[in-house]
Amino acid sequence: MISTPRKTPLLPISAILAMALVACARKEDTKPAQDMNAPAPPGASAPSPSASAAVAASAAPAASAPAARNDLNVILISIDCLRADMPWAGYPRAIAPRLTEFASRAVDYTHAYSLSSYTSMSVGGILSGRLPGELKRDGYFFGTYAKENLFFPEVLQDAKVFTLAAHAHGYFKKAGLEQGFDSWEVVPDLKWNNTTDENVTSPQLEAIAERQLADPRTDSGRFFAWFHFLDPHDKYMPHDGIEWGKTLRDRYDGEITFTDRYVGKLLDFIASRPWGPRTAIIITADHGEAFGEHKQFVHGFELWENLVRVPLLVSIPGAAARKIDTPRSAVDLAPTIVDLLGVAPPESLLGKSLAPEVRGAPEGPRDILIDLPATSDNDRKRAFLHGNLKVIASGESDVPQVFDIQEDPGELTPIRGTDASKEIVALYKERQKTIHDVPPFKCKEGCLNGGYRKK
Ligand SMILES: [Zn+2]
Repeated sequence: MISTPRKTPLLPISAILAMALVACARKEDTKPAQDMNAPAPPGASAPSPSASAAVAASAAPAASAPAARNDLNVILISIDCLRADMPWAGYPRAIAPRLTEFASRAVDYTHAYSLSSYTSMSVGGILSGRLPGELKRDGYFFGTYAKENLFFPEVLQDAKVFTLAAHAHGYFKKAGLEQGFDSWEVVPDLKWNNTTDENVTSPQLEAIAERQLADPRTDSGRFFAWFHFLDPHDKYMPHDGIEWGKTLRDRYDGEITFTDRYVGKLLDFIASRPWGPRTAIIITADHGEAFGEHKQFVHGFELWENLVRVPLLVSIPGAAARKIDTPRSAVDLAPTIVDLLGVAPPESLLGKSLAPEVRGAPEGPRDILIDLPATSDNDRKRAFLHGNLKVIASGESDVPQVFDIQEDPGELTPIRGTDASKEIVALYKERQKTIHDVPPFKCKEGCLNGGYRKK
């Protein structure tokens, strides 16, 4: 089902890497018709201010918020392609019992957004606390990041926080994302396929995570750990004893169930360690996944809600579980993590720490920016959310599309010519002036905007 590249010229390694998951994300893929009928995403609606207030009022902790403690560790668990429509958000299948249980005792952000719609740009944004287009990168789809970028683990490392990470895709070996990590491992012996990812890696990744977390340095001082699970990425592989059906969504659900077991195993390990009770855990995704929405499958290339709405679960010791419906962005992860570790945030961070509101402080509205910089394989797109309205701008387009994601969660009918739509476009253009776009240092004219693919 996945078309192979039309042409495979000799390419720099970064471009070849780009092809690896590019192909899996190309939008012209065709899939069996029945998959067009993937379950509608429950909980895909925009936040309702009244509902938000009701939830906040009923679930908010008592006025005495827990005091911030100064001995916390932080573990970030990200799951590739994890959509927002998961069981704890109303999806009618128990595909992720461990994550659902975790959500019930965490602060559950019901309207969280990733920074982009595919791994390379999203994780660059998470690590820098900035938009990916503001980073020094080579411009290939699977971007390599320059040393000059400041990633928050570097700041942690300078502050003597032990930093460790484990990954499950070859891209992570040499993408420049390892900056600031004392320990950085990628699951060994991965099979390479430049059109999809057939590796099953959660068991190995979880084992590496346990080994890394058993490092004596986690007992003797504070640490930050990041583990990125990859199995929900296509190709959706079968797993013994897990059978949700035969459609693409069914098979994806099987990957979620499989991954959930290993995330659960890791959560059990964390709970068993002496430092478990003083460890904050954040679970999120780098982006969502498409199952026929806007005739697209997998991810990348676009910024539709199903691609950029992601789960965000934050568990801080002492903080009461609740749901927060106010939209938030992955740009807030870096400030949250440095805050929890008691390290002064670098000035470069765009977002704000979520820690105060997770501990019960009132949360105010913030606009959301999502950025898909032009690369060798895609044109530039940006999205901007303000209240219930969302702007999607392609390239340098002066006529961005506006959607009311509360009334029209499927983003099917753009709003034109209303005062509200003009206002949000004006607001977006103002906001855009504050974005410090950085041109890529390798893939330039004739390569960008999918130029490489068009050759
Ligand atoms: Zn990804």
